Amino acid sequence: MGKQVEIYDCIIIGAGPAGMGAALYTSRDGLKTLILEKFVPGGQINSTDRIENYPGIERIDGPGLIERMQRQAESFGAEIKAGSEVTALEKLPDGNIVVSCDKEKYIARVVILAPGSDYRKLGVPGEEEFRKAGAGVSYCGTCDAPFFRGRQVVSIGGGNTALEETLHLMKFAEKVTLIHRRDEFRATRVLVEELLEKAGGPNANLIIKYDTIATAIEGEGRVQSVKLKNVKTGRQESCPCEGVFIFVGMVPNTAFLKGFVDLTDNGFIKCDCAYLRTKVPGVFVAGDCRVGAAMQLATAVGDGVVAAMMLKHYLKDPKWWNEAVSDLLQPGGW
Ligand code: NAP
Repeated sequence: MGKQVEIYDCIIIGAGPAGMGAALYTSRDGLKTLILEKFVPGGQINSTDRIENYPGIERIDGPGLIERMQRQAESFGAEIKAGSEVTALEKLPDGNIVVSCDKEKYIARVVILAPGSDYRKLGVPGEEEFRKAGAGVSYCGTCDAPFFRGRQVVSIGGGNTALEETLHLMKFAEKVTLIHRRDEFRATRVLVEELLEKAGGPNANLIIKYDTIATAIEGEGRVQSVKLKNVKTGRQESCPCEGVFIFVGMVPNTAFLKGFVDLTDNGFIKCDCAYLRTKVPGVFVAGDCRVGAAMQLATAVGDGVVAAMMLKHYLKDPKWWNEAVSDLLQPGGW
């Protein structure tokens, strides 16, 4: 491969909660650990301003939590390279794995894939056009809500993110119209109750439209309205607004892994779900990007820890990779 390539015990791809959880354990175990992060540490939780379901911490914002996680992992020697997008992986005949970024290559004895997921797009006319800064389409209320102080906005989605972000938007906007394609929210009861209570309260600045989809985002140079359609009645209307916030779920960041590990049709990484082994020996997966993930901060961290614990079995004896989960559950299997 030409120039000297650095060898790590463990390379983790992605510095979100899953990657940080893994790095804390591997570095604390004395393994030479590198985390490669495409942007900046944090991933999805960087756009969360209220976390209150991470055990032991009653309330914290996403950037604050990830900063603590980073400090803790680094204190045990983990190295984090931000702005390092991994473009390819290759398994060598000696069992090691080459991890390639644009300019650099690294070698690892084991790899943990923790690239997380990205915002799902609606795919309607106007979405791409008005995505540019200041034009009115956003995927992050926590980041952009203050720009819409005193203005009218439309919020789209029915999951936890949509409800949390709508509650946040209500603190800034003059009026928020929340649209959801069904007549029942997917979000947890506590959030639904909080939202409905606020919608019914005095000075409520929230309108909820069920069974409604956006068919186009319109305006001259910036967002001025959203075309809405009721999917049950077929009725269409134009909703004037200056901002459209889209919270319709996440898509795993796994395109660069196609052909290296097995992916499901919608891009999630296949693994054994117990020990988080992919089909490639020495390559584990952790967090939202894997099949069967609970998509929670705490479970992402837990995944990272599971992978970090399991890789020790592999490093001790690579044959462990082919052991069936059921065999390992037998007494003495460990
Ligand atoms: P999600 O749970 O997948 O919800 C996506 C929402 O968008 C659903 O209501 C879905 O409608 C709707 N949707 C999807 N595609 C759509 C389309 N093309 N047009 C219109 N609506 C569409 O995604 P999420 O809210 O981003 O959450 C992702 C994961 O993170 C979830 O597991 C969630 O529980 C977790 N999370 C947890 C917390 C927390 O615990 N505090 C906070 C944020 C996120 P349907 O319901 O009809 O499918």
